Amino acid sequence: MQFHVAQLLKEHTGAVRRFQMNEPIRQLSAEDMTIEAPLTGEVSLMRDTDGILVTGHLETEVSVPCARCLEPVTVPVEMELEEQYYPTIDVETGHKIPVPEDADSDTRIDSHHILDITELVRQSLLLAVPLAPVHPEGCEPVPTSMDDADEPATDPRWAALSALRDKDSETSSDKLS
Ligand SMILES: [Zn+2]
Repeated sequence: MQFHVAQLLKEHTGAVRRFQMNEPIRQLSAEDMTIEAPLTGEVSLMRDTDGILVTGHLETEVSVPCARCLEPVTVPVEMELEEQYYPTIDVETGHKIPVPEDADSDTRIDSHHILDITELVRQSLLLAVPLAPVHPEGCEPVPTSMDDADEPATDPRWAALSALRDKDSETSSDKLS
């Protein structure tokens, strides 16, 4: 996910470029996390006094182990990007520009004026993935101890209630059809 920003660097502070994203990012999959959809959304690059400010709202889908049954569950992920990028070469003169000491190496625009947001997206994605997702349609919990495994699958006190609930849902589906 690279942008050639030589032209933008020549423009006045506040100049903006917007990009609609539709990027396959399966290569950003990690251990226990598979990316299931392209990265979509919008990224804005704004010329500011330090270089270029990247902001954006991006979405994708990942599959991760369900917190209940440990089988993969696919969940939507949304990310807000905001990162300052710094030029390393003056686009007009070709002279080196000192980069702030505390600037991450991933936030440097390279000598060919390429700004790469891959690392920003990778880190944002890891932070945005839900911590303990579960299958929304329900699933069987993995037994955590022998006691749990020995318990009857359905508590008799619940049997009557669930029978009632089944009857209810039949009635409502009749109404719908
Ligand atoms: Zn599950």
